[in-house]
Amino acid sequence: MKHGITQLFIPGPTNVPDRVRRAMNVLMEDQRAPDLPALTLGLFADLKRAFRNSSGRVFMFPSSGTGAWEAAIQNTLSPGDKVLMSRFGQFSHLWVEMAQRLGLDVTVIDVEWGKGVPLEAYEQAIAADAAHEIRAVFVTHNETATGVTSDIAGVRRLLDAHSHPALLFVDGVSSIASIDFRQDEWGVDLAVAGSQKGFMLPAGLSFLSVSDKALAANEDNRPKFPRSYFIFADQIAMNDQGYFPYTPPTQFFHGLRASLDMLFEEGLENVFARHHRLAEGVRRGIAGLGLKLVAAGPEWHSDTVSAIYVPEGVDANRVIRIGYERYNTSFGGGLARLNGKVFRIGHLGDLNEVMCLAALASAEISLADAGAKIAPGAGVAAAHAYYREAHAVAEEARVAAE
Ligand SMILES: *Cc1c(COP(=O)(O)O)cnc(C)c1O
Repeated sequence: MKHGITQLFIPGPTNVPDRVRRAMNVLMEDQRAPDLPALTLGLFADLKRAFRNSSGRVFMFPSSGTGAWEAAIQNTLSPGDKVLMSRFGQFSHLWVEMAQRLGLDVTVIDVEWGKGVPLEAYEQAIAADAAHEIRAVFVTHNETATGVTSDIAGVRRLLDAHSHPALLFVDGVSSIASIDFRQDEWGVDLAVAGSQKGFMLPAGLSFLSVSDKALAANEDNRPKFPRSYFIFADQIAMNDQGYFPYTPPTQFFHGLRASLDMLFEEGLENVFARHHRLAEGVRRGIAGLGLKLVAAGPEWHSDTVSAIYVPEGVDANRVIRIGYERYNTSFGGGLARLNGKVFRIGHLGDLNEVMCLAALASAEISLADAGAKIAPGAGVAAAHAYYREAHAVAEEARVAAE
């Protein structure tokens, strides 16, 4: 028998705040009720704020994030189109695989896992494409498998420097609403997110935020992929009225209302700052234990997930299993080639310092039980020191501002 709660330190699904959970606890309602648009039209508008997308629109599909990936491709590209992608972890790998399965002509740049989007290689490919045959450039903003965040603004700069018209696709499933993301400013044409990460909801709703340029690509007369469930036109016709072309998950809408309210009440900038502070404490803790991140340097650090190498001779899967079975903690596993070598701590969503200290404490005890030679308490102590210092600095700034 387990007591207390099982601590969820996987990078999605994340903890659903009580306020969100209670908001979803409503009687079933009519998806064609005359007052439904009063709820849904506000959600569409506020999702645009969360993506920082002042043009275009946001679609909500009843699918996990992967469905929005598919919708993005099918509605704006044609079979056989040339696209530029990079692969540096399991999620960027799966996106490449989808593009290949659907029948795009994919140029894949493989990058050492631990680094992110290869700006130089992208620039070479874009510079060499004077005929503008590359229709789209894809970037995984936050590679959840390796804990690596990529420079989307840098990709926009290189496209602009070469006046290249390719659409910019961004997978922001584990970044949007947690770390800085600026759709307008970075010229992102199609941005994908999912309900179960920064939006603090259960899995099952995907968000696809599109620019005016993406909508124009949807409407031009190039043949698009065969599609039906995910077709933009049907969504647009109904969404503009606050409705959906098929039965929507209405409970989610109440939960999403609460989660967007929480994000805006805190302020997106403060949400990002909190994620940075919590993540940095976890990173100090990892360093305090003498362990290494998969991320190859600070410029790649992800503020939503840390992928951590276990010491030589220790089985990361055993650490994760001990964490779950003895200490009621869910850690993320090492995916694909990182399996057995890595465990991951997700630090995104509805989270605070003490929860991150608990994650480190649980990691320490599980590592020790699995045979790792670490100094118990060293990680927690390093994180303590950082959190106290960060709060002291913030307090000083607050007093100075008064
Ligand atoms: C979680 C995740 C996905 C997959 O989303 P699903 O909701 O599981 O379909 C895709 N990309 C990234 C970066 C993710 O973190």
